[in-house]
Amino acid sequence: MNEKVDDAKKVDETLSRIKNRLLVFSGKGGVGKSTVAVNLGLALGKRNLRVGLLDIDIHGPDLAKMLGVEEKRLESAGVDRIMPVRVNENLSLISMAFLLQTKDTPVIWRGPLKMKVIQQFLGDVLWGDLDWLIIDSPPGTGDEPLSAAQLIPATGALIVTTPQEVSLLDSRKAVNFARRLNLKIYGIVENMSGLSCPHCGKTIDLFKSGGGRKAAQEIGIPFLGSIPIDPAIVERGDDGKPFITNHPDSDATKAFNGIVEKLLNSNREE
Ligand code: ADP
Repeated sequence: MNEKVDDAKKVDETLSRIKNRLLVFSGKGGVGKSTVAVNLGLALGKRNLRVGLLDIDIHGPDLAKMLGVEEKRLESAGVDRIMPVRVNENLSLISMAFLLQTKDTPVIWRGPLKMKVIQQFLGDVLWGDLDWLIIDSPPGTGDEPLSAAQLIPATGALIVTTPQEVSLLDSRKAVNFARRLNLKIYGIVENMSGLSCPHCGKTIDLFKSGGGRKAAQEIGIPFLGSIPIDPAIVERGDDGKPFITNHPDSDATKAFNGIVEKLLNSNREE
């Protein structure tokens, strides 16, 4: 009992030092949720905001790899705290990846254990004062993202979708999910929206485009922006070099910066 009270107190202490806690959701996997979480974190950090990234997509903890820090291990601080891994001056990360023996080790824990770890990621980690904590949640709208979202009192949600109808349908579910959790919904991001042909420069709508904006209008939430398909996103994700830092002039980087602007404006308007 006492241990539980202590744990809850530690979580409260941590939360009281974090201004914005943003859950990044998607109706299904593979739409670029982690890519968006990482690059928004980097873009906010570039504006001198202090950012934490919390990777609770426990079965696919990809953020450490995308940021080139997957070989790092967590260091303890004091008797019962751990330090997040520092990615750069303004960005730190906690991920399940830092606890796994090897990259190929699957996490086969059952629900309660996973939830305990997520709670420790908040209560036992010395995040310090943060402007934003960006939480990469498990994909979908099932039990796991729900339990995780209930453990982390977020202040807002952002939904990532791709332009295909099936993905848009799922993102409507994700919006309802966020509404049920009483989160401020910052809006929808359409990822993989058109490809700029490297030969002729024209845009090819590989997976269609514009569906995210239409869905946002229909559901009545803001549309935050479209991120084009850019092969460099895959390459940088694979070689662990942060995308927006290495491709500052790309259209995708401009799109990420535009989304950050909208997030910050939305807070100013409150
Ligand atoms: P999720 O977190 O939704 O499962 P990821 O962020 O892991 O999705 O992205 C899945 C794959 O798609 C990764 O290989 C990533 O590099 C790639 N990807 C994501 N967004 C884009 C984009 N806009 N252009 C090109 N590739 C992308």
